[in-house]
Amino acid sequence: MGIRIDKGKCTGCPGRDEPPCVKYCPGNLIVIAPETKKARIRGQRDCWDCMVCVKSCPFGAIETRLPFQLAGFGASLKPEVAKDKIVWKLKDADGNTEIFEVLTKKV
Ligand code: SF4
Ligand code: SF4
Repeated sequence: MGIRIDKGKCTGCPGRDEPPCVKYCPGNLIVIAPETKKARIRGQRDCWDCMVCVKSCPFGAIETRLPFQLAGFGASLKPEVAKDKIVWKLKDADGNTEIFEVLTKKV
């Protein structure tokens, strides 16, 4: 599947030794491009969709691309981690959004 980085949302995380997406990708696949100072993935084919980068970006700049066969061109899935739940945002090929909440703690 792979990821998509929204260059409009990515700040490049200035002031940090290492942006979270760069720091936590287990495959060391994300770098800050010197020319733009924004994140880019250098090995889309090596991404195994662990979503660590998606969850760790403080600006919500990264989303998981869904394969064409599964959801059509442009569809994506983005989890946002809250204290007691994960909010999954599913965007379909037409840009419609559905939200699913999964509790991660018993209340
Ligand atoms: S964590 Fe998010 S904002 Fe920071 S460099 Fe990575 S993609 Fe950009
Ligand atoms: S989804 Fe996982 S493997 Fe893929 S770029 Fe993000 S952190 Fe790296």
